[in-house]
Amino acid sequence: MERSSERTRLRFAIVGAGMSGILSAIRLHEAGYDDFAIYEKADRLGGTWRENTYPGISCDVPSHLYSYSFEPNPEWTHRFAPGAEIQAYFEDVAARHGVTERIRFGAEIARCEFSGGRWQLATKDGRRDEVDVVIAATGVLHHPKYPDIEGLDRFEGALFHSARWDHAVQIEGRRVGIVGTGSSAVQIVSAIVDRVARLALFQRTAQWIMPQDNPCYSEAERAEFRRRPELLTELHADMAELFSAFSNGLVDMNSPQMKAIEDACLANLERSVLDPVLHEKLRPTYKAACKRLVMSPDFYQAIQKPNAEVVTEGIERVEAGGVRTRDGRLHELDVLVLATGFRVDRFLRPIEVIGRDRLRLEDVWKQRPSAYLSISIPGFPNLFMLNGPNGPVGNFSLIEVAELQLGYVLQLVELLRQGRCHAISPSEAATARLEAERTEAARHTIWGSGCRSWYLDDRGVPMSWPWPFERFRAEMAKPTLEAYELQ
Ligand SMILES: Cc1cc2nc3c(=O)[nH]c(=O)nc-3n(C[C@H](O)[C@H](O)[C@H](O)COP(=O)(O)OP(=O)(O)OC[C@H]3O[C@@H](n4cnc5c(N)ncnc54)[C@H](O)[C@@H]3O)c2cc1C
Repeated sequence: MERSSERTRLRFAIVGAGMSGILSAIRLHEAGYDDFAIYEKADRLGGTWRENTYPGISCDVPSHLYSYSFEPNPEWTHRFAPGAEIQAYFEDVAARHGVTERIRFGAEIARCEFSGGRWQLATKDGRRDEVDVVIAATGVLHHPKYPDIEGLDRFEGALFHSARWDHAVQIEGRRVGIVGTGSSAVQIVSAIVDRVARLALFQRTAQWIMPQDNPCYSEAERAEFRRRPELLTELHADMAELFSAFSNGLVDMNSPQMKAIEDACLANLERSVLDPVLHEKLRPTYKAACKRLVMSPDFYQAIQKPNAEVVTEGIERVEAGGVRTRDGRLHELDVLVLATGFRVDRFLRPIEVIGRDRLRLEDVWKQRPSAYLSISIPGFPNLFMLNGPNGPVGNFSLIEVAELQLGYVLQLVELLRQGRCHAISPSEAATARLEAERTEAARHTIWGSGCRSWYLDDRGVPMSWPWPFERFRAEMAKPTLEAYELQ
């Protein structure tokens, strides 16, 4: 009994103050937990939206869906709002909910050790904390991936990753190269082509481009949203349903939905790119949505401007003056942007995480990261991840994913609060069983249909939720306690 009354006073650490960390703080407070600290290594909240400030950045899930369900925003200016607006939204929500003042900025968690029944935390600069529960909201698209290209360090122009855009570098009238063809690269091309002297897009793989317009909301529409907030709630719910239907298509590589998407992308290419040589360069040879689907209303128009070029010859090396391709040509450049994505297998790392019996996460995840329902790991009690390994990642609103996950986590934490246990972690057997089932199902999804993408693990198995989104919602609605060890 003594233990149970002790345990009602749970202390939490939230690691990360991006979308997921802010959400965690708001929900913990609402659930009556007020003893928590939020650790953020940067000096500002926002995660992704703080870090990615490249020209043209916007979300590619409609803004009225890419919003917290409890904080609809009548002020979105566009269907896909620009990054700065999204950053401002998170700052505003965090301030209004009293989250900002509770964030410990400049505090990078370097170590978490489960010892004496609690988590002992240490920051990089030596600050310490002891908590019952850790919520890891450290992000999935967080660690920039740098390509392994010979000579990158010899380039004498300006060189940076798209997630580290250097705004001190002038691009007006300069020769700019972009490596990569994912969503960031496509947004950058459209945004800068008219500002630069020359633009070279170094393409390894062509992308399917979904012709998605980005209309703005008029002042009258926004006034109506302000006046009738229920419209926003309806819009959010409708869009969530639409994306659920889309998810049903993704998990079956031969689904009619995927075929319809591919037809729409192909028609976009056919009507937009008439030059047969360029058409062939830009035509993908894999199924649409196998790689994250790129949305753009104007990429094909941008890349056909006279100062733009798609380079498909393959990069041999980077030299002082530019990029040398395999055909021997030197593409002279002043600025080189690496739009090469993120290391999506770096969940939680480089935090040194030590679980029960001195189990090291680095060893458990030596091969690849995995977790029970993306949230928790056997041997690491009371540690919960948001947007962890193998969760739904393909063209969904990760806000909705995090909200569902947090609702699930709070139900587990309730067991701690009620004193029904003091440590909770999934069993090895349940985790292995689910992971085997997930792996098998993942092979049949669109991401496993034969392309190279960041969705694939070292075995070529998609690192994603391979079932319809309704199943995810159902799993998150109520934990199956038989899968857990309660101590
Ligand atoms: C260019 C781009 C566009 C995107 N567009 C969309 C979209 O349209 N729709 C969508 O759903 N998703 C999109 N995403 C995914 C996006 O990452 C998520 O939607 C969401 O912002 C992730 O929030 P998060 O809080 O989980 O992680 P993050 O935003 O990555 O935040 C993690 C935070 O944790 C902090 N942190 C990490 N490690 C530590 C540590 N050890 N100690 C202290 N702090 C730490 C980081 O500094 C960061 O602030 C996009 C991602 C990118 C890169």
